[in-house]
Amino acid sequence: MAGIYISYPFCAQKCSYCNFASGVFPKSMEPVYQERLLNEIRAVRWMFTPETLYFGGGTPSFWDLDALREVMAAVPGRPWIEATMEAAPGSLTEERVAAWKSFGINRVSLGVQSFVEREIRRTGRKHTAEIVAQDVELLRRHGIESINLDLIAGLAEQTRDSWEVSLDGVLQLGVPHVSVYILEVDEDSRLGQEVLLNGKRYGAPDVPSEESQVWMYERAVERLAESGIQRYEISNFARPGWESRHNLKYWKLEPYLGFGADAHSFDGSWRWQNSDAVADYAQEARELADVANERHWVGLRLSEGVELEERFAPEVKQFISDGLLENFGERVRLTPKGVLLSNEVFEAFLK
Ligand code: SF4
Repeated sequence: MAGIYISYPFCAQKCSYCNFASGVFPKSMEPVYQERLLNEIRAVRWMFTPETLYFGGGTPSFWDLDALREVMAAVPGRPWIEATMEAAPGSLTEERVAAWKSFGINRVSLGVQSFVEREIRRTGRKHTAEIVAQDVELLRRHGIESINLDLIAGLAEQTRDSWEVSLDGVLQLGVPHVSVYILEVDEDSRLGQEVLLNGKRYGAPDVPSEESQVWMYERAVERLAESGIQRYEISNFARPGWESRHNLKYWKLEPYLGFGADAHSFDGSWRWQNSDAVADYAQEARELADVANERHWVGLRLSEGVELEERFAPEVKQFISDGLLENFGERVRLTPKGVLLSNEVFEAFLK
């Protein structure tokens, strides 16, 4: 039986390590995205009843509850055997968790990444170990026991000792599922770009060596296994019976349908993928509401740059002093370094 993946690509911040097609987008884009998403889901002629549902992104835990209800109502198969909400620690409230439960969510995956505050801050996230513990308690109080915690090995300033602290944090909470990822260093994340450029921002010089990252991963395998949480996929660990039914479909080549920006689909024979650019995905429905804003940052892709707009003067000044933008007559444009870090510049103009 097939699974359904739905992407909500909006985030409160762009985390330094993140290489997903997600980020900070104008508020005005959300209703456009919602409409496009609903149209995409409602256009399906269901040949099967979905048995799993997975909300990823992005940060779907910030999804407006009425909008989320509308989307879930468009997907057949309730009650799904597994319906997962990816959540940012600190985004959970009594109201949200109660609503998710009533909509059919029965599994929550928290993007913890680390239990060590200075490491969390370096990523751009704002939670603490206490907030994670409160979130887990809140979920359990609402009857959601199927909880996953994500950890990343390779964060700036992480050490073998601090990794043990994060593993302690996971084990103390007694969750049945843990995901452990090794930091991906590529041009799609700001931290990855900085590491590749031998730069100093985002704590790039403090990223542990590959050898240490491998040690951390192997230590996680060992300590989780000692606690009865076995690896069942390279990055995924669970107590027997608590494996992610949805994610297993990807690894077992069972069919799944993806909706939203950058969502992938596989029908058993064919694979396809939606646009990974949120604006492109949403614009398939209609023009963006905030065209002026978009024109500004899209224009910066051009070598000729854009005319300086007064409302962006503070950001432009900062980027010029960071060496990412330069004056060009009456215009501003990306420097060679700015071209490599363009996503970061665009994000500032999208707020
Ligand atoms: S890691 Fe999660 S919250 Fe952070 S930018 Fe990526 S999708 Fe958004």
